[in-house]
Amino acid sequence: MSTVDDLAALQEVELALARVAARLQEIQSLYAEPEPIIHGRAQSLRLHGELEDRRRLLRGLEDETTAVRNKRESGQQRLYSGAVTNPRELASLEAEAEALGRRLRQLEDQELELMLEIEAAGQAYHEATAELKSLEEEHTALRERLHHEEAELEQERARLEPQAEQQRSRLAEAVLTRYDSLKARKGGRAIGALRRGSCGACGVQVPTNVIQKADQRQELVPCPSCGRILAPE
Ligand SMILES: [Zn+2]
Repeated sequence: MSTVDDLAALQEVELALARVAARLQEIQSLYAEPEPIIHGRAQSLRLHGELEDRRRLLRGLEDETTAVRNKRESGQQRLYSGAVTNPRELASLEAEAEALGRRLRQLEDQELELMLEIEAAGQAYHEATAELKSLEEEHTALRERLHHEEAELEQERARLEPQAEQQRSRLAEAVLTRYDSLKARKGGRAIGALRRGSCGACGVQVPTNVIQKADQRQELVPCPSCGRILAPE
């Protein structure tokens, strides 16, 4: 193989290595939990808190209802026991019983309203949790796929790295220096395949005399447009 063919082969291996490295890096970022899961978890937690708050409120109302009911019952017992005969005291007991009755109806209305809210909050929490669970399962499956892909890419890298080393060992130091410098300046691509009279890297038509020179493979011929080394196919 001529020097330019060796260089083209080296570039092919190194481009494959660069693709492997780029995908491995991308995979690292895909392992992280996506925003919808983080958001969903926070929302689920918030909805659970709201549900618990309402349940606590309901328990408070129920305790108060019991207390008011007991108080009204003991008042009524006194009222109908015959022990109280003073008309002013009787009137006051009746007024108190009426006030307690109003309070009881108020409490019962509030309890009913709260129970409806608890039902809605429970439903919202249930839905958010189910959605979160499905997102988490999806992400776990994705992580497993990524894990497999990562292992395959590591194998690919282990196969390509010695190939690149071997390709490099075939080339002279000065040639490699020129190749590496071009590679660094030209977006990782030092070689342009010469295909149907055009540079495969920049796409510009190459003059016939340059094509002829490149075809001879006697020296490294740069593309007049982008400066990469032309590799005739
Ligand atoms: Zn070019």
